[in-house]
Parts: sequence; C-alpha cells; structure tokens
Amino acid sequence: MMMGIGLYLLAFIAQFTAAGWSIYLLLKTQSYRKTFACLSIAYILMLGRRITPLIDFSNDGNLNLVDAVLAAMISTLILLGTLYIKHLLKDLENANLTLAQINKTDSLTGALSRPETFSRTLLEVERSFRTKHKLAFLMIDIDHFKLVNDTYGHWVGDTVLLNLARCCQEELRAIDIFGRVGGEEFLVVLPDTDQVQAFEVAERLRKHATKEILADVAGAEVHITISIGIAVFNPSDRHDGLAANVLSRSYQDCDQAMYQAKTAGRNQCVVSK
Ligand code: GH3
Ligand code: MG
Ligand code: MG
Repeated sequence: MMMGIGLYLLAFIAQFTAAGWSIYLLLKTQSYRKTFACLSIAYILMLGRRITPLIDFSNDGNLNLVDAVLAAMISTLILLGTLYIKHLLKDLENANLTLAQINKTDSLTGALSRPETFSRTLLEVERSFRTKHKLAFLMIDIDHFKLVNDTYGHWVGDTVLLNLARCCQEELRAIDIFGRVGGEEFLVVLPDTDQVQAFEVAERLRKHATKEILADVAGAEVHITISIGIAVFNPSDRHDGLAANVLSRSYQDCDQAMYQAKTAGRNQCVVSK
C-alpha cells in the first residue's frame, strides 16, 4: 500500500517538474512556442491523472499497484524527455550562433564578409544621420593582382590577400569597418571622418601595404601596390534620408575614384569629386 502511494507521489513530482521545465521553455523559446504550449497544457492536465488515484484511495481504500508503477515510469520518462529537449535546444542555439559568426567573417582574410560589411555600414550611415558626422568610404583594390597569381600561383595570392587584410587592420580603429567586398577588393568605412582625414588614412594604408613583404616564395619577397578610391558622405548635404541609397551612392563613388586611381597609374589614392 505504502509502496503504491510512494510511486504515485514520485510520479507526481516527476510530472510536476516536467510541467515546470516545459513552461520555462515555452517562455524562453521564440521558435517552438506552439510545441511547448501544447506540452505544458498536456503535462498540467496529466497531473490530474496522478492525483485521482490518491483521491480514490482515500475514498474506498483501493489502490492499483500496476497503475502506480506505470504512472511512476511514464512520468519519469516524460521528465527525462523534456530535459533532453532542453539540452537539444541549447546545442541548436550554440550551433546557430557559430553559423552566424562564420557568416559574418570572410574565411580567407578574417575581414568582415560582404553582407556583414553592408549591414554594419547601413547602421553607421543611420548613425551619421543622427550625429551629423561625416562618414568616409575607401575602396581598396590590389594592382595587377592577376600577375601575382600568374607568377607565383593562387596559394601565394591567397597569402598576399590574408597579409594585406592584416596590414590594413593594423592601421584602423576598432570602430572602423573593414570588409572584403570582392575577390581582391576591400571596403573601409571610417565613422566621424572628413575628406582630409580619410585621405591621410588611405595614404597610411597604401604606404604600409607597399612597404610590407606580403609573401615569401623560396626567398623571393612578394610586394604589391594598391589603389584606393575615397568618397565622403556629408549628412548635412541634401539626401533622401534612406541609408541604403547613401550606401549605394558612396560605394559607387569610391569605386569610381578607385578606377580613376588605376587610370592615373595605380599605387595612389584618389578622392571622388
Ligand atoms: P588591376 O590593377 O587593374 O586591378 O589588375 P588586377 O590584375 O588586379 O585586376 P583583375 O580584376 O584583372 O584581377 C583580379 C584578380 O584577382 C583575378 C583573380 O584571379 C584574383 N582573385 C580574386 N579572388 C581571389 C582569391 O580569393 N584568391 C586569389 N589568389 N586570387 C583572387
Ligand atoms: Mg578588382
Ligand atoms: Mg586589382
């Protein structure tokens, strides 16, 4: 008799805990709300099935031991299942975070990925609308990079890209945006920066990249030069208030200025007029 009551109590505690975890997951998760809403209601209703045998017992003194064993086993399994689901969701969340992190960076150079560069730049443009501070855009392109690949191979080309990204990042502030937007093209976005300051930063990047040995092939040092196009967005000038349009305009302007640097002989910085 006592054993039967003990089993029903065990079943009740397990069921109650499972219902508690299920409600916790319902409140915490965004994606599986309906699942946990159904489970929470079912678990709470099932608590009644754990209490009714005890009420019957107090009325007529009868207790079904087989039912008590089954109730204890089922409730314990329900509790374990709910805890496994909780762990599974934690693993899923971690995997999603890792994936999001991978999508944000360029796997070769460690610079920001193209989509991440643009989404962060949009936020900076919006910030410049509020602060009225200028925002500078630099487009960096390696000069005659095809020649580096053709002469030394793509593996060396990749090393050059990686080291160029490192060189540039050494010259930039933590608040600056540095992303790989094409094969050998990098976009730099400098918050709170006017044309004179942007030109200084661009020159610093160019000189650093030119000076550095970007790869070493069997004793042969690989040097490169870069061309940089500069465009500065002034939020005090007339604009339509759409960050996406400012980004697209500024991107085109610095890209065009970069091509002007190419036609003017490469290894130089040109400001968009
Ligand atoms: P320019 O001075 O006019 O910019 O000449 P360029 O040779 O640098 O320009 P072009 O656009 O003709 O060539 C770009 C080269 O960049 C071609 C492509 O093989 C190389 N490239 C693009 N992505 C990668 C990459 O991930 N790794 C390597 N090794 N090379 C790349
Ligand atoms: Mg290019
Ligand atoms: Mg190039």
